Amino acid sequence: MAQAIGIDLGTTYSSAAVVRNGRPELLTNRDGDALTPSVVLFGDDQVLVGAMAKRSATAMPDDCVQFVKRHMGDPHWRFIDSRDKEYSPEELSGLILRRLAEDASMALGEEVRDVVVTVPAYFDDARRTATRQAGEIAQLNVLRLINEPTAAAVAYGLDQGEAGTVFVYDLGGGTFDVTILRASGTEFEVVATDGDRNLGGFDFDNELMRHVAGAVQEQGGPDLMDDPVAQADLRDRCEIAKRTLTTMPSATVVTSAGGRSYTVKVSRDEFEAASRHLLERTEVIAEGVLDDAGLSWRHVDQVLLVGGSTRMPMVRELVRRLSGATPEARINPDEAVSLGAALLADQVSAERAGVAPDMKVRLSIRDVTSQSLGTTALDDRNVRRNVVMIPRNTKIPCKREDVFFTMVPDQRFVLVDITEGEGEDPEYVAKLIEREIPLPAGLPDAAPIKHIMSYDIDGLVHLELFDETNGRHLGEVELDRPLNLDRSDVERMRQAMRRLDIQ
Ligand code: ADP
Ligand code: MG
Repeated sequence: MAQAIGIDLGTTYSSAAVVRNGRPELLTNRDGDALTPSVVLFGDDQVLVGAMAKRSATAMPDDCVQFVKRHMGDPHWRFIDSRDKEYSPEELSGLILRRLAEDASMALGEEVRDVVVTVPAYFDDARRTATRQAGEIAQLNVLRLINEPTAAAVAYGLDQGEAGTVFVYDLGGGTFDVTILRASGTEFEVVATDGDRNLGGFDFDNELMRHVAGAVQEQGGPDLMDDPVAQADLRDRCEIAKRTLTTMPSATVVTSAGGRSYTVKVSRDEFEAASRHLLERTEVIAEGVLDDAGLSWRHVDQVLLVGGSTRMPMVRELVRRLSGATPEARINPDEAVSLGAALLADQVSAERAGVAPDMKVRLSIRDVTSQSLGTTALDDRNVRRNVVMIPRNTKIPCKREDVFFTMVPDQRFVLVDITEGEGEDPEYVAKLIEREIPLPAGLPDAAPIKHIMSYDIDGLVHLELFDETNGRHLGEVELDRPLNLDRSDVERMRQAMRRLDIQ
């Protein structure tokens, strides 16, 4: 049986891992690295993915695309290259997945088809579906999606078999994610989760870039932020300097513009002062998630740092100050997610094949919904209100019911919808689907109609209606995904990818 792998499809870096002899390990790519930059570059007759694409970003900014994950599930976003070819976020993520799978196939000596892909815990339904579709476009069989913090905890928990309340602080390249998990041996239960998809190392790079660009101007130079090529070059240099500042008290950035070079020395203190507000944003979210869970720091037994940006000393200090504990650092923060995904991939593929997994223990992972799901109904003053049926952070799979009443005698249909979001005002929630469901003739006024909403393990949402007066099933709404590609798009993109030369 071909091996199933785990893939951490990151905003800035992606990686793949596999279980060997009961232990997960990172697979190196064709460049010999464990991490592959999530960067795609379109050439005349080939597509570059990874380090080479990232290195060419400065020279060919119009054909280079990165941070695609921020656009997953956005039906309107397209990348248009210099040949005017358009690419959806699903296709671009598909290219990255294809390249990771090909590299993994090379490393394992057999074709990889089955994968578990990780997603941020706060990804909503549309973004999860987009991620699955990216896998399909890449001709992969996506066994499961797993939340990134859950995957990281799986990697940690299995290592040592520890129990308790786990706080996962994940600051990557472009996303921030906080999750509280309850772990007991091999069981992981997500208690609460929240995040910000526009906060990550990228934003710290921006602060350093602004700082350096300002210093260059003070030296009489031009504004490097004005010119896209100069800006891309500055970004590369500042990202390297940022890494240096993780280990050293100061770093030097050398840039050139208009035939002159400028040297800017930055101290860690200066960098930390410039990015303090970003760190504070993570603090607010972290406290909020604890609040949501009805917990305080003294209930937290373990803090896991995930994501490359948590290597920064200021992050470690913040987490230490907040939690009063020293965060776990046994596993590299940018590898834990992929290792956990590999463990799940191994388990799921073994279950499907009916053989014992390589891993000795059975994992049980319970996830929670990332967004509140509900429906709208008229209240007694005939005003339409949103009613949350499955609040966010509800364990999945789950099923909730509520009874609504008809408004007039012999009402012949109800308008049912599924909403996503908080609060009563329909203006502030997203309507995912709306449908008319006919009612039988002769119902009295205020006849009870039971609504049962369910959310299954793969994130599919159903809303079923029952006529309580006659005890009959009235109909069902399954969430079709207006924000996602349809089947024919996926198939077309899948065929197109077959013809591509991906390097
Ligand atoms: P993602 O999962 O979001 O793609 P990663 O977890 O791989 O990202 O983290 C990538 C981010 O971590 C980048 O912004 C990178 O600059 C940052 N990073 C990696 N190593 C270090 C380091 N030693 N010091 C500071 N930042 C780092
Ligand atoms: Mg990540």
